[in-house]
Amino acid sequence: MVLDGASDTSLLLGEADASPVLEENTAGRSPFLLTSDHYGRVLPRVLGDLGLPESELKRHIAWDIGIAGVADALSQHLDAHLIAQRYSRLVIDCNRPPQSPNSIPRISETTIIPGNEGLTREAAEARRRQVFDPYHRRIAEVIEGRSREGIPTVLVSLHSFTPVYAGIARPWHVGTLYQRDTHLPPLLLKGLRAQADLVVGDNEPYAVSDETDYTIPVHGEARGLMNTGIEIRQDLIADDSGEREWADRLANIFGEIETELRGRGMLAA
Ligand SMILES: [Zn+2]
Repeated sequence: MVLDGASDTSLLLGEADASPVLEENTAGRSPFLLTSDHYGRVLPRVLGDLGLPESELKRHIAWDIGIAGVADALSQHLDAHLIAQRYSRLVIDCNRPPQSPNSIPRISETTIIPGNEGLTREAAEARRRQVFDPYHRRIAEVIEGRSREGIPTVLVSLHSFTPVYAGIARPWHVGTLYQRDTHLPPLLLKGLRAQADLVVGDNEPYAVSDETDYTIPVHGEARGLMNTGIEIRQDLIADDSGEREWADRLANIFGEIETELRGRGMLAA
């Protein structure tokens, strides 16, 4: 059911709705700043269930399954600041430019999203202003604050991907995603490939582009920060033990990368 109030744009988020921005370990001392654009699957109350059954709202179309547990644990292991989005990507996708046709998806994979049909410009802008903007404003604020304080920032954007998309099975366990940074992604690839049990995607299952991505181009590349995205296959992090295992793996690899970057003198602010 889509509630009648869905077209009232002034009150997308009411007093009973959570803040879009979730943060962990804000005083973390790691150079790695973790972001998670598809961390949560909360819907603003006024949007009801977007006209979808609960089974659809638990699928990968609504969020990055498993990434919240990995992100929380990795933030602890690395002593890294994590900034994450609580609201579902079906409300507005925080890793798409807002002008992209997929920013507020009317169809995701093969599922029609009734609550996203026929949105007025004002309703779309309310989603941007109240969900997308606060999240990205906070990431920008944190990066700028660190820079003022002389704290180096290496941006790591955490995602997970569905094992089967549109009927095609994906062979990778994990992938790096990048576009312009030539420093961090090769180190991450090397660390992942050193683990013999993994099939590692190099810009698979997705590559970063200015048209399809937002967090890496805007917060990482435009500021000249070292950056990478990571995609973990969702069946590997579908329960607590999988989430813990992957947080441990990544913490070890990023620990080695930090040592390497320090050795090269690349972590000066
Ligand atoms: Zn994602």
